[in-house]
Amino acid sequence: MLINFRKTSLVDYPGKVAAVLFFRFCNLNCPWCHNRYMFTDAEDAESDDIVSLEAALTHIEKRKNVLGGVVLSGGEPTLYDKLPQLIREIKTLKSTGVAVKLDTNGTMPEVLESLFSNAGTRPDYIACDLKLSPQRYAQLGGAAESLAKSVELIKSSCIEHEFRSLVLPPDVFSEKDITDLAPLAESSRWVFRPFKPASSLPADWQAKTAATAADVKKAVAFAHGLGANAVDPGL
Ligand code: SF4
Repeated sequence: MLINFRKTSLVDYPGKVAAVLFFRFCNLNCPWCHNRYMFTDAEDAESDDIVSLEAALTHIEKRKNVLGGVVLSGGEPTLYDKLPQLIREIKTLKSTGVAVKLDTNGTMPEVLESLFSNAGTRPDYIACDLKLSPQRYAQLGGAAESLAKSVELIKSSCIEHEFRSLVLPPDVFSEKDITDLAPLAESSRWVFRPFKPASSLPADWQAKTAATAADVKKAVAFAHGLGANAVDPGL
């Protein structure tokens, strides 16, 4: 299986030097997504970043003494049917301190429940997206009920975690979305990052304006006002 592999990242796992595995498929259809386009014609791509999963694991094994963590991202990694075995495999490197972070869109609560139920497959850190007001998840092809269940599982798991939101253009992501998402985030760390248009996005999204540092600060301040533990990582 081909994945997109970032050998070293300082920003994808809080406080750790990490390797990042980007899985190929996703069950949502976010129009602002940068990642689902990175696999177009992947089999033919002449990119050093697109490797077999086995090659990525071999690299991680070799670098386990310098890596603090491995991030499983996407796409949506919970769609990968061998995810439990993969987490087990990475966690066997744990004697040297390699931790596993799972990035998820929160649409597959049954997979999270299964992973959390076994010490060998429990991630060490979870990052779950809060994209839009839950009532609007159908616009992306998701379901509010699944998101709510995933969020409750994550919050009650005792696993270190964060929720993440992109500060999208104001006609897409407004204070109403933040207000509707705040009861899900409760007191958990809730990170806001700026949307940036890219040439790989659909034309109407390429034309949208990037969120500024001030836009992020405003969203964080608004979430703080609702009692949330909102964070501006300042990237
Ligand atoms: S959930 Fe993530 S990977 Fe999937 S379409 Fe949305 S932004 Fe892209």
